[in-house]
Amino acid sequence: MPRPLCATIHLDAMQHNLARARACAPASKIWAVVKANAYGHGLERGMRGFADADGLALIELENAVRLRQLGWTKPILLLEGFFDASDIPLLAEHSLNPTIHNYEQIKMLEYTKLYRPIDVHLKMNTGMNRLGFRPEAYAAAHARLAAIPGIRSITMMTHFANADELEHPRLPIREQLRRFRVGAEGLPGQRSLANSGGVLHLAELEGELPSDWVRPGIMLYGGTPGGKSASEYGLLPTMTLTSEIIGMQQLQAGETVGYGSRFESTGPMTVGVVACGYADGYPRHAPHGTPVVVDGVRTTLVGRVSMDMMAVDLTPVANARIGSKVILWGDGLPIDEVAHAAGTIGYELMCAVAPRVRVVEG
Ligand code: PLP
Repeated sequence: MPRPLCATIHLDAMQHNLARARACAPASKIWAVVKANAYGHGLERGMRGFADADGLALIELENAVRLRQLGWTKPILLLEGFFDASDIPLLAEHSLNPTIHNYEQIKMLEYTKLYRPIDVHLKMNTGMNRLGFRPEAYAAAHARLAAIPGIRSITMMTHFANADELEHPRLPIREQLRRFRVGAEGLPGQRSLANSGGVLHLAELEGELPSDWVRPGIMLYGGTPGGKSASEYGLLPTMTLTSEIIGMQQLQAGETVGYGSRFESTGPMTVGVVACGYADGYPRHAPHGTPVVVDGVRTTLVGRVSMDMMAVDLTPVANARIGSKVILWGDGLPIDEVAHAAGTIGYELMCAVAPRVRVVEG
């Protein structure tokens, strides 16, 4: 018998969420973002779940090549581009679109003969201050790139820092859009703008966010970048992490649970021990009160999460027993809610699911 901990991936929900993204951005083509092992769902499952996308976007060059080997024939975007001139032949060979964000990459392209034309994204830094050329330097970078033989097209892109919060006090999306328009003024090429937050807010930004391509990630996996809940956005969970109760303990008042004796019972109570710990990707810092569902009943975590186990309060669960089903997140317990309780984001929980966790589709 394998350990009862299991991540179930819902491919139909992935398709549904992609359709939601299309409904939000009907005029744009969609890069479905499958970096980080498709946000922990598995690269190949990402490819199948988002088969209707117009392209797949990711970070890892080796996984981009793998997508081609798996049979993906539509465009592939490398969100961080490439790091070394020796990577360039692979771009041409596998028809990968790199993101160009610094002059080192432009120089490498100038000195390496491309034996087949490639399409590139050129990144503008409109305030995120991670990658890209500032608006005032963008046209020069564009011109230099356009002069390289073998560069077939340049798509202009930027990335939003606060797309989940339309009126962000420091850097609102509208300000990034304004800077983008200034930097891209008069330049030819398509535009690639919005992450999930941008896609979900497209209606409110009507007319201000004309984007040939959008690049949703988290919403395709049934999470949100913030703001409303996934269900309010019509999104479905794509990963359900389940386990079972593998031990039960009757506590007396004043007794504690787990390492550090962080939780102390105020009266007699039953705790259940769940086969899932931080070595499985469950956040160790999830505090007492983090929600879990046992046999369909909502209850909470008690005590510290340990490497392979965690304890839950079984007080509200009638007839709890060894083997009771536990939902840690997913269907019936939004991942964003668990993440919020644990002081993190759904992205991190999905991506952190450890290799030892069994993964099935269903
Ligand atoms: N585009 C770029 C350049 C990104 O780096 C990311 C993710 O960080 C995305 C799109 C997708 O973002 P999200 O998962 O918030 O939709």
